[in-house]
Amino acid sequence: MKILDGKWAAQAIKEELKQAVEKQKAAGEKLPHLAVILIGDNGASAAYVAAKVKACEETGFTSTLLRFDTSITATQLLEKIDNLNNDPAVDGILVQLPLPAHIAEEEVIKAIDPTKDVDGCHPVNLGKMMQGQPGFVPATPYGIMLLLKHYQIDTAGKHAVVIGRSNIVGRPMSILLSGNSQPGNCTVTLCHSKTKNLEKHCKQADLIVAALGKPAFLQASMVKEGAIIIDVGITRITDQTKKSGFRLSGDVHFESVAPRCSWITPVPGGVGPMTIAALLKNTFQACLQRH
Ligand code: NAD
Repeated sequence: MKILDGKWAAQAIKEELKQAVEKQKAAGEKLPHLAVILIGDNGASAAYVAAKVKACEETGFTSTLLRFDTSITATQLLEKIDNLNNDPAVDGILVQLPLPAHIAEEEVIKAIDPTKDVDGCHPVNLGKMMQGQPGFVPATPYGIMLLLKHYQIDTAGKHAVVIGRSNIVGRPMSILLSGNSQPGNCTVTLCHSKTKNLEKHCKQADLIVAALGKPAFLQASMVKEGAIIIDVGITRITDQTKKSGFRLSGDVHFESVAPRCSWITPVPGGVGPMTIAALLKNTFQACLQRH
């Protein structure tokens, strides 16, 4: 078993971007600028946003963090997005999800200028991805593709099982893995909460992407010997032995699954850092296209 080390692969991508940004700076060109909107005080969301802002700093990007109370109305939020859409200094906009219940996520995502939608969630970008056209690919599945590429994992002809059908992870992942590309060219089965015989599907998979948000769901008995395992899940579990009061759990029961597989991502240090690296790549691309 070998580890797909997302921290290491993300560091390599960030280093490449940093050098490219230094060249932009030396040439007096505009530097990439990411604007992040965070609403409320959800601890996990705040931690993800802090990691994204820190990654911008490390890479030489400019970032702006806009924090709002949960009392913000949908109209007010749409106005803020409109301001960012029209701000020539801003290349990428990310609205950290989830949003408070009174604000419709689809309306907010649709309001982002697709050329600044570096999280790749706008219908225009999802449509482009469907058709294999250049556009912004959702950061988490894009990060997973970058990780497979970094480790030169040959996925052609493999049977991939994706567990979870969300618009930001599972569904785009299934499209990317089935695309005529490397990584890609997989035969994909997309599983979800209504799938029957999930275990049977998983057991014959060469590659499993677990993205359902259920800690330690994927057990060794569900995994074929030699499979490649990508664990997207991140759940905070109360743990008083930790200073923070919690530990992070993936969707894979790492201890039992790891000995069976050929490659596996850890949690933390697997998909999480790659999501941030993908976001930075998208933001850099947005900057190049705009200037
Ligand atoms: P979601 O809640 O939107 O979707 C979960 C999906 O899992 C649903 O499509 C549902 O049908 C499916 N599901 C639920 N129970 C199931 C079961 N018993 N069997 C099969 N399918 C089942 O979640 P999401 O936004 O896609 O996120 C999934 C997980 O990934 C969460 O833990 C989230 O925190 C994590 N995540 C991590 C990153 C990262 O950067 N590492 C990014 C995004 C999400």
